[in-house]
Amino acid sequence: MSKTTLTFYSGLRTIGGTIISLEYGNSRVLFDFGFVYSPASNIFDGQVQQRPSAFIRDYLKLGMLHKIDGIYHKEALLHEPSLLSAQEDQRETAVLISHLHLDHMGAMGAIDASIPVYMTSDSLRLYGALETVGEGVSSSRSYQSCEYNQAFFVGDIKITPLIVDHDVLGACAYHLETPDGAIVYTGDLRMHGAHPDRIESFIKSAKAKGFDAVIMEGTTLSGDEEPTSEELMASPLLPSDLVTEKMIPIKMGEILKDTKGIGIFNIYHRNMDRIQGIIEAARISNRKVVLEISTAEITSKLLAQVDFFIYESEDLRQAKANNSLPEWQVKLLDTLPTVSYKDINEHPNEFFVQNSYQHSLELFDLHVKDGIYLHSNGVPLGSFDPAFENLEKILQNIGLERMEIGTGGHAIPQHLKYIVDELDPAILIPLHSFHPERLKSKHGIQLLPSYGVTYILTGGKMTEEVK
Ligand SMILES: [Zn+2]
Ligand SMILES: [Zn+2]
Repeated sequence: MSKTTLTFYSGLRTIGGTIISLEYGNSRVLFDFGFVYSPASNIFDGQVQQRPSAFIRDYLKLGMLHKIDGIYHKEALLHEPSLLSAQEDQRETAVLISHLHLDHMGAMGAIDASIPVYMTSDSLRLYGALETVGEGVSSSRSYQSCEYNQAFFVGDIKITPLIVDHDVLGACAYHLETPDGAIVYTGDLRMHGAHPDRIESFIKSAKAKGFDAVIMEGTTLSGDEEPTSEELMASPLLPSDLVTEKMIPIKMGEILKDTKGIGIFNIYHRNMDRIQGIIEAARISNRKVVLEISTAEITSKLLAQVDFFIYESEDLRQAKANNSLPEWQVKLLDTLPTVSYKDINEHPNEFFVQNSYQHSLELFDLHVKDGIYLHSNGVPLGSFDPAFENLEKILQNIGLERMEIGTGGHAIPQHLKYIVDELDPAILIPLHSFHPERLKSKHGIQLLPSYGVTYILTGGKMTEEVK
């Protein structure tokens, strides 16, 4: 007789890297397929060279990919004779991606092309733009799209993507149903984003569909917050000291109005709401937005917004003169205006210019006297990233003040508790957190799973499989 099982491979007490498998009979879905976020302990330090031809082999060896049967191509399993390849495994498998953050999708290129990898059509559009600008994951496979609220099947498992709000375009939760019961996987989400209504609609849709268990992220339960012995209090309210996504353009606009020199910003360009906010901040402060060419490509594809200029670096100018630009850049430069550092330096206070960390040295060409560097959730995210010190060195070198104006993508503790209380699941499985144990269900039980254990879902209960 078929039964429904859950297995947890990764991401229980880390930030991201969540990989869970739900299985029923001959059908299996794995959800999310990224890397654990840990910049300080990344083996790829910029010196060790990756081997594209042996990527899966190497990552399995390093423990960055997990030993899961039936998802890798047989040629990649040279050193893993005990692992079943995608070609040998008889089950019908699909992988679901909740959103396009590296800790949820960074490893999806390792999945064999015979296995479908689903993401929402918004995510797929964003992924297309990322691939164009060279920020895709290393793979030659294609990806499949799904629509919010439209159910589809992988074998006997029914899957419904539900829209949520997170700091990236296309984020969703998944409702997963088998003949034994249903679970909800939240992915990452927040209530202080530009679309808080999506969280209310997610709660409503999930409840209408019904579920036995909720698998929920708990990123902000970091251990740094209030006394951790106290129970979390549920509240949907926005504390007065919490910066919301909607406040960012107003705050930035005010600062830019008071700044006599250039405005610089550093963002993460998968967050379309932030790009929109940047354009709004420039409108408020009567400045022109200047985007790096990659961000300009993504923005023109996804926001259909064109009130910005492309930053013409010296490298870009020379490549243009030598006819050595990639095709997408040629096309983009045909349709959008550029400004060079020379143009900007004539009137620095008329501009709001993007500078991402990888292009930090461009700052040397700009007149930054009396200017401001608005660090708005672009990498490096904080001092836990060794690159942060380098950024500070560069800014000190040119005497540019850095100011943080941003907000996180994850629900604050009282919002997490509010969402859980509203869902009120019989079984709550908190993860994607350093302190998942802090998040408890109002009436149901909390399950803190272990690796290597298979959990059976039956009759509204989850029990460990006895081997
Ligand atoms: Zn995450
Ligand atoms: Zn995320």
